[in-house]
Amino acid sequence: MTDGTNRQILLVEKPTGKLGPEHFKVSEAAIPEAGDGEVLLRVRYISLDAANRAWMHGATYRSAVEANSVMAGGGIAEVISSNALGFTPGDIVFGDTGWQDYAVVRGKHLTKMPKVEPMTYLLSVYGIAGLTAYFGLLNVGRPKEGETVVVSAAAGSVGSIVGQIAKLKGCHVVGIAGGADKCQWLTSELGFDAAVDYKAGPVFKQLKAAAPKGIDVYFDNVGGDILEACIAQMNLFGRISCCGAISQYDGTPSAHGPRGVPGTIVVKRLTMQGFIVMDYDEQRSQALADLQSWVGSGKLKVQEDIISGLENTPQALIGLLAGENRGKRMVKL
Ligand code: NDP
Repeated sequence: MTDGTNRQILLVEKPTGKLGPEHFKVSEAAIPEAGDGEVLLRVRYISLDAANRAWMHGATYRSAVEANSVMAGGGIAEVISSNALGFTPGDIVFGDTGWQDYAVVRGKHLTKMPKVEPMTYLLSVYGIAGLTAYFGLLNVGRPKEGETVVVSAAAGSVGSIVGQIAKLKGCHVVGIAGGADKCQWLTSELGFDAAVDYKAGPVFKQLKAAAPKGIDVYFDNVGGDILEACIAQMNLFGRISCCGAISQYDGTPSAHGPRGVPGTIVVKRLTMQGFIVMDYDEQRSQALADLQSWVGSGKLKVQEDIISGLENTPQALIGLLAGENRGKRMVKL
């Protein structure tokens, strides 16, 4: 970090096709000062999320990111100075810091975090990834012991936790991921019962073998063709937890959504429900207590993928969308 200056990564242009390094540039500005109700933060870790790319398309559960501004993104940061009630220097917080060394954020938009070792767990298992997996599986998917749970982007930050929680609940768990190495990791290290490599051939056929009794809960991180293949194999009264649609975020989204959906939903009495992790804020303490106890007892393994250097943040996002990461990807400043 340079003394007195704030390095920032700007989104210079919104991509119309695939995201590339040309859409970003590194810039320098003066370290900002906190105004009334605001906090000056030194960013420690920036969270890399598939959703970063989705925000470039337009408003979602948050406003769209705009060209020629600091790229938006969640981060873990340390309070340097504060003009906001409840924050003092040295506090660790989570908030939309953006891709930069220092940020000024309104206190009411920050969440004070406990001091946890390692601090990175605040972005992975005890952060949005862990909570999304927990609520999306248990509150939306509602798996019962003995049922079959399938999860896509299974080797990613959310998916790797979903599959492990489903195993803890006594389910038959199948992960869908890209590449033989990731599939091998899911079964040998994380305890998944089977894994399907969507890059190795049609998902529909591989799923038939991996989930011979059909699917009771499908945790959907990707949408598109994989969602189509899963819907076709859902059991009566199955639940689909719609968490995200990575296959539609980068480049030109596929021209068709999953086909054959309405008829199958009616005949099989399926429930398909979208959710945003914040919907379950009131149950956050219970979720964190469960996650902590599973991590503490070694039943839930935490996989992180940490890249160093603010200047590498654009490439880290481009790589995440291409499937480079295993577990929670973040950048350490
Ligand atoms: P991940 O860590 O899961 O990384 C993304 C992974 O997606 C890649 O590693 C890649 O793995 C896989 N992928 C990329 N393109 C495709 C494709 N075309 N088809 C299938 N898989 C693909 O990222 P995140 O944790 O950021 O995101 C996981 C999901 O969770 C996203 O859908 C995101 O939007 C969602 N999310 C939703 C929240 C909510 O509140 N609803 C909150 C947080 C995240 P591979 O090698 O297997 O292809």
